[in-house]
Amino acid sequence: MFRKLFAWVVMGCIMLTGVGNAMSQSNPKLMTIIVLLGPPGAGKGTHAGPLSEHISLPHISTGDLFRENIRNNTVLGQKVKSFMDQGKLVPDELVLDMLFQRMENPDCVRGCILDGFPRTVSQAKALDAKLGKKSRIIALNFNVPDAVLIERISGRLICKECKKPYHKRFDPPRQANVCDACGGALYSRDDDQENIVRKRLEVYHEESQPLIDYYAKRKGELREIDSQNSKEQVFRDVMIALSSKD
Ligand SMILES: [Zn+2]
Repeated sequence: MFRKLFAWVVMGCIMLTGVGNAMSQSNPKLMTIIVLLGPPGAGKGTHAGPLSEHISLPHISTGDLFRENIRNNTVLGQKVKSFMDQGKLVPDELVLDMLFQRMENPDCVRGCILDGFPRTVSQAKALDAKLGKKSRIIALNFNVPDAVLIERISGRLICKECKKPYHKRFDPPRQANVCDACGGALYSRDDDQENIVRKRLEVYHEESQPLIDYYAKRKGELREIDSQNSKEQVFRDVMIALSSKD
């Protein structure tokens, strides 16, 4: 009931405020490329799917693209796999080939939502060069203070048996370290250890700050989203950010 009402409110907002301004109705040939930015755990993944549905643009995650190409054993997929098997980073050129091939699909004719790309200024420049003047970019930057992210991520627990997720503080099991559903033991993933999360955030900031600056310098491209709020509030803020002209 609440969900439905929320959906209608959001739909109403879209019509009233005219996401159309940002969503290229004024020029139907202009593609809208939405770039999702934000540290791990900031909620990009949570909002990408619903956003894609609401504005009818496909959600393209580079992680999914890698997996899809590997699963289908495409030429690009074989190359990606050989880099990953050696524990190496997939080179930009290959990521670009895969992404631009995907963007040729007819479902991207109005644009798309990019998740996990660009990660660096040189990737952003390659995207600009590819798009030329036939598109506009809106970069949504999901902001959450590091301290909040560290608490969110390092508090995660998972059941060894049924994989049910918990959180030490926000969603604790009834009995410490025991799964409510199946009685299995709970553990926290190595990746979620506080020192590892800190390190990941450090790497993220170092890598992405120049990218955020790059979009901030261009009028109307960077839109800040306070991602500490409730899921519903963040989604509303995303819709508002997309509907503003700049
Ligand atoms: Zn369990």
